[in-house]
Amino acid sequence: MEIELNERSFDVVEGTSLDALRDAERPQADIVILNGAAMAADATLSSGDEVCLIQRGVARSEDELEALMAARHTPGVHTKVKAATVGIAGQVTTIIPGKSPCLSCIYPEGPTHWKREFPVLGTVSSMAASIAAVEGIKLICGLGETLAGTILYYDSRNMNF
Ligand SMILES: [Zn+2]
Repeated sequence: MEIELNERSFDVVEGTSLDALRDAERPQADIVILNGAAMAADATLSSGDEVCLIQRGVARSEDELEALMAARHTPGVHTKVKAATVGIAGQVTTIIPGKSPCLSCIYPEGPTHWKREFPVLGTVSSMAASIAAVEGIKLICGLGETLAGTILYYDSRNMNF
């Protein structure tokens, strides 16, 4: 009968037990998961069962990690996510209507080098949002100098501002 062992199809003889499978395939495994639940006791396997044998402190092979990631995605999505670029740079400016350049002034044609890419790292976007919030507070309180008329660029790859 067929089961899944560490996210891959695996054939076992009818009546095989969890402990027998562990002893045969990964005797060092100290965590045995059957259909999502950690097992303390032995059990008889059924067709379609999903078994994960894990050895504490031992990293999975690249192949195994790849199979794990692929199994967690809708078919085809894993390939697209793997090929994706992560955006980790940002730009922030402050626009004071009638006093400082707006986006159309700054980019009359739109930035030609920019194209929408997936995914954008949320924490990088929130960096821009935090800076924008500080700009708003500065304007309300009349503190310091804002970014009006300038653009702050940041590249989170090396934390250059
Ligand atoms: Zn403008």
